[in-house]
Amino acid sequence: MKLYEKTAGDLSRLLQNKEVSAVEVVSDFLDRIEAVEPYLKAFITHTPALALETAREVDQRRVMGETLHPLAGVPVAVKDNICTENIRTTCASKILENYIPPYSATVITALQKAGMPILGKTNMDEFAMGSSTENSAFFVTHNPWDTSRVPGGSSGGSAVAVSAGMAPLALGSDTGGSVRQPASFCGVIGLRPTYGRVSRYGLIAFASSLDQIGPFALTAEDCAMLMSVISGHDPLDSTSISEDVPAYFDEFDYKPEGLRVGIIKENVSDHFDPEIKAAVLSLVAKLEEDGAVVEEVSLPLTDYGLGAYYLIAPSEASSNLGRYDGVRYGYNAGGDDIENMFSNTRGAGFGAEVKRRIMIGTYALSAGYYDAYYLKAMQVRTMIRRDYEKAFKRHDLLVGATSPTTAFKIGEKTDDPLQMYLSDICNITDALAGLPSLSIPSGIHSEGVPMGMQLTASPFREKLLLQVADYLEKRGLSLGRRPDLDFPEGGFC
Ligand code: GLN
Repeated sequence: MKLYEKTAGDLSRLLQNKEVSAVEVVSDFLDRIEAVEPYLKAFITHTPALALETAREVDQRRVMGETLHPLAGVPVAVKDNICTENIRTTCASKILENYIPPYSATVITALQKAGMPILGKTNMDEFAMGSSTENSAFFVTHNPWDTSRVPGGSSGGSAVAVSAGMAPLALGSDTGGSVRQPASFCGVIGLRPTYGRVSRYGLIAFASSLDQIGPFALTAEDCAMLMSVISGHDPLDSTSISEDVPAYFDEFDYKPEGLRVGIIKENVSDHFDPEIKAAVLSLVAKLEEDGAVVEEVSLPLTDYGLGAYYLIAPSEASSNLGRYDGVRYGYNAGGDDIENMFSNTRGAGFGAEVKRRIMIGTYALSAGYYDAYYLKAMQVRTMIRRDYEKAFKRHDLLVGATSPTTAFKIGEKTDDPLQMYLSDICNITDALAGLPSLSIPSGIHSEGVPMGMQLTASPFREKLLLQVADYLEKRGLSLGRRPDLDFPEGGFC
């Protein structure tokens, strides 16, 4: 039995029925990683010994008759900006290349409590700044559907791990699209939870008012199961919210009768790839056939979202990244005096995109420019939030494409930051508004790579997003599909 081809839900059932052991499951994924990782490069750090140790513990507890979490023994991959005690956490940056956190993020503690073996830490754009995983200081990750293409970013390694069968589940982080856009490029599900739903404690900060940890999975059921592990209030994160956590994977027999769906005009624009647009519209038509009420809706401030985001996120980043001075964390390049040491360390430790963001952010926050840039961007953010509030009076669900294009070629956009930024045009306004948003595969493009559709709801309605995704899955949408990988021995990267 090829366990690595199974969904997390199937693995959970096999484990609970004692048809397989957690050690067998983990070993199968470790073999799969060994076979395909040389071609894809999804992981910065592998933790096979730790994964097997957790699996052995789970097996022992099951033999003793303990009632375990449904995901006990189901392995997971974790983005490398989520702190893991005693395991290197690099943020794909030279400045943290050898950083070993003295504590674990709250989500990691939750995975461990559930008995989920951690397979390793995944590649990403440095400090989560990027849309292609090409900004990693270490290496480029390849899209398993076409290795000449990017996997998307910044959580590219996590998306690839799930897509290529190296992990049934993974965690990423989404500041302005970094879970959803790579999910769509790699043909998996990716959820950005409501801001405050999942603790950020131990997530290395990029833009704190936007950052959220979110799951990657093959099916809505799998995504729901992982959400139930990581959601909930955490006293260690002052922005986490004490709203009850629903049973995400109950009531999966959903019918969209009366569901009010708004197609976001700006997110099915005529400038987008026509096949991506057509795929969204055909899925919406399926919802309509089963009783959903569909209308077009305009979010006129979408055009301003990108500008507002690229002021707010870099401003917060410039402040958050001030702590990397060579003294408190990680790399130290030395120097004749303190100032010299700071600039040497930051000069050599940060990559070009991170430096660009720090400069933009420092400029936008500086005296004389603060009102014109940062404050203005915050006002736009408030107006965007109001736009959504208005839309959610008429609609339960807002839909559109996840990204205007499919995965682009490696190197295609690296010299043109604006083109790179535009890749997340559909993912930014809902992030600014703090809303939950899900990307699901919407089909395969004629070029042979996946396309994505994005579903956004009002705060804390993740369950609705997952129910609708599950419904579409049952209506024959090809979720849970993985690319056929046929690599010769050896690896090319
Ligand atoms: N691509 C966007 C950026 O570079 C979003 C990144 C993210 O969500 N972490 O800022």
